[in-house]
Amino acid sequence: MSASIDYNKYEAVIGLEVHAQLLTQSKLFSGDSAAFGGLPNTHISPVTLGHPGTLPFLNKKAVELAIKLGFACHCEIARENFFARKNYFYPDLPKGYQISQHTAPICIGGHVPVFVDGKSRHIQLNRIHLEEDAGKSMHDQDADNTLVDYNRAGVPLVEIVTEPDLHNSDEAYAYLTELRRLVRWLDVCDGNMEEGSMRCDANISIRLKGDTSLGTKVEVKNMNSIRNVKRAIDNEIKRQITLVEEGGRVVQETRSFDASNGSSFPLRSKEEANDYRYFPDPDLAPFNLTDAFLENIRKSLPELPEEMIERYIRELGLPEYDARVICDDKATAAYFGELIAATPHHKAAANWMLGPVKSWLNDQSAGMETFPLPPASLAALIALIVDGKVNFSIASSRILPVMIGEPGKTPIAIATELNLIQDTDAGSILPVIEEVLAKFPGKVAEFKAGKKGLIGLFVGEVMKMSAGKADPKLTNELLMKRLNS
Ligand code: ADP
Ligand code: MG
Repeated sequence: MSASIDYNKYEAVIGLEVHAQLLTQSKLFSGDSAAFGGLPNTHISPVTLGHPGTLPFLNKKAVELAIKLGFACHCEIARENFFARKNYFYPDLPKGYQISQHTAPICIGGHVPVFVDGKSRHIQLNRIHLEEDAGKSMHDQDADNTLVDYNRAGVPLVEIVTEPDLHNSDEAYAYLTELRRLVRWLDVCDGNMEEGSMRCDANISIRLKGDTSLGTKVEVKNMNSIRNVKRAIDNEIKRQITLVEEGGRVVQETRSFDASNGSSFPLRSKEEANDYRYFPDPDLAPFNLTDAFLENIRKSLPELPEEMIERYIRELGLPEYDARVICDDKATAAYFGELIAATPHHKAAANWMLGPVKSWLNDQSAGMETFPLPPASLAALIALIVDGKVNFSIASSRILPVMIGEPGKTPIAIATELNLIQDTDAGSILPVIEEVLAKFPGKVAEFKAGKKGLIGLFVGEVMKMSAGKADPKLTNELLMKRLNS
């Protein structure tokens, strides 16, 4: 970064194009498997290979998934649809054209909510359209030849295109995180950027702050994680501003991001762009969507993450932060849903999710779907605390680990076995209190002189001496009574 350049004079404008592989069994226009991986060229048939005489037929499930995502993104759904051929020549494209809805998308407009810097806003979408994927060229498998795997050719994709509505890499990060949560939430796509089932191209331009016209855009490709999209955007904004400030001009081009050094290099310029010669695919009949078909899909939609967050804040009185963490991913939200059905203590349930459960998962580097304890068992542990049988600290540090190891055992059985049942008998706590007060005569004098905050120290000492078993609430009451008498 050049020291003399004022980067704050400029505003970035960003539009994102995301390709998401739909979770169908078969490909968009054939019965070939759409599964990821597989030995190269095993998920292929004459249709995938584009042999003369073969005919495509449309996968209804792919259409349903695209519409599902469209509803979740508040898009308008086009009733009349057709597919076009996008013609270009490349070895990974056996037919010599890609079948795409590029010219007439199934989902129009819409928006995705993002939460950045503590504020919510909508990122406007331009469209979501259906298209087939290309195969995969492998340049590093053989010293002299490029090898091609056609397993991916024809796999159904949706392309989700935003308006040029983002202005920095944090918004892009939040948008992609939200979009990934959404496609996973809806079972539309597995959202795996590392494996390439979700891919993002970033279109970036700059303009002077206050300008309303758009600058020349550069498209950056080949980022395999959300973090790398953020890095690529930051790098590209800096590159363009530096270029312009040094008297240069941004040229419209496509660049490839290199994650190893955080920079990019040009792939092709506008002059080298293809003329795709789009025209409606004569082998595929146009298809119209009926009200009943759309209504069935709409009815199948689950509650969306942002709706759920809002409901938990409103109905359960959860802090927004807690509600957001609980709805971070589908498995956590589903678990919490079952947990609050099993216990009336909803705030305690949220505290358990954000506290001990989350720490356990962090320690294991695991996701919620691997948590071994059924929600009903966690609810039983919460009940044990509410009933005054054990305190939270004992429950989370001593009982929970045993329950995780032996999910069949009830918390009360474990607490009894380990001799952890809380002491709620004043008769046995009082002697411990006397012992503690005798140990700290100075502190007792300070307390009596007005330093009331010392009560915490006394309670803590009683808890320590009783190995955590004294009921903290009762201990507090007894101590206050004794010290104020
Ligand atoms: P293309 O035909 O080159 O793919 P599109 O108009 O389809 O261009 O836009 C592709 C993406 O680029 C969209 O996400 C759009 O919002 C974004 N975009 C378009 N113009 C600009 C610009 N000047 N600056 C930043 N992003 C832009
Ligand atoms: Mg484009």
